[in-house]
Amino acid sequence: MAERITGHTELIGLLAYPIRHSSSPTMHNEAFAKLGLDYAYLAFEVGQDTLEDAVKGIRALRMVGANVSMPNKSAVCQYLDRLSPEAELCGAVNTIVNDNGVLTGHITDGIGYMRSLQDGQIDVVGKKMTVVGLGGAATAIEVQAALDGISELSIFNIKDKFWDSAQGTLDKIRERTSCKVNLYDLADLDKLKEEMADSYLFANATGMGMKPLEGKTYIPDKSFFRPDLIVTDVVYSPQETAMLKMAKEAGCKTMNGMGMILFQGAAAFELWTGKEMPVEYIKQVLGM
Ligand code: NAD
Repeated sequence: MAERITGHTELIGLLAYPIRHSSSPTMHNEAFAKLGLDYAYLAFEVGQDTLEDAVKGIRALRMVGANVSMPNKSAVCQYLDRLSPEAELCGAVNTIVNDNGVLTGHITDGIGYMRSLQDGQIDVVGKKMTVVGLGGAATAIEVQAALDGISELSIFNIKDKFWDSAQGTLDKIRERTSCKVNLYDLADLDKLKEEMADSYLFANATGMGMKPLEGKTYIPDKSFFRPDLIVTDVVYSPQETAMLKMAKEAGCKTMNGMGMILFQGAAAFELWTGKEMPVEYIKQVLGM
């Protein structure tokens, strides 16, 4: 790194708190080095109290842009000049691009999920998906899947604060895409089983299965899975959740959340540099 950084090196930041555990600095700096690009990516501990100043800093320092993660993904929207159609639908941003002082917010989480499916030779376009979740990760996936042309989306969630706040977003998806969108209470497990039965893909997009819910799943038993159902999980730690283990035992093709992380990064990398991230190399670097 010391040999690489000069007076010409351009900066990209990651604004989140806590953030020291993130794999994004390794991912991006390794990709810059591999392609010989003169950028550096650094993580900054920024919470909502310093977010506005940090965004002003992107303009003042003429940074190329930034990633944004929790707790800033929704709050950052108010400080940006423009939002991509996906970011506007989600009400959240994970990538900022600075174009001569004009800051545009994008969300690449859903793009990352859809690309990770493609990378696993899974084509969900024109088909039905059942997704559990209405939070940040789930909304990004649901918006992108609908924009990319899935035919039907059955969403399940517990009746918590996300249930009420998601209604507006689901209406916008219905208005702006041709995807049929259904919403059901996750307490109705018979309905869940019925919707999964004619879905091509089932996705957990909640933190179920990761700490403090490690080892847990809302799927009661293996009979919910049939061998030709594709089953994915946004959780990446542990790499195999209790749900993925059960699905694998039932003969399903499964995918964890590592691919979504990689490809959301690859999409952001392209927005900043105009170049494709060397994803096969980065998979090796990250031990994927
Ligand atoms: P969030 O807080 O925005 O949403 C939480 C979701 O979980 C909501 O739908 C909520 O209703 C649901 N939920 C909470 N408790 C539940 C329970 N007991 N039973 C069933 N559902 C419950 O969180 P988020 O940012 O969307 O993150 C969710 C998960 O996705 C986390 O595990 C996170 O690590 C993961 N994630 C992965 C990626 C990736 O790239 N792989 C990206 C973002 C988030």
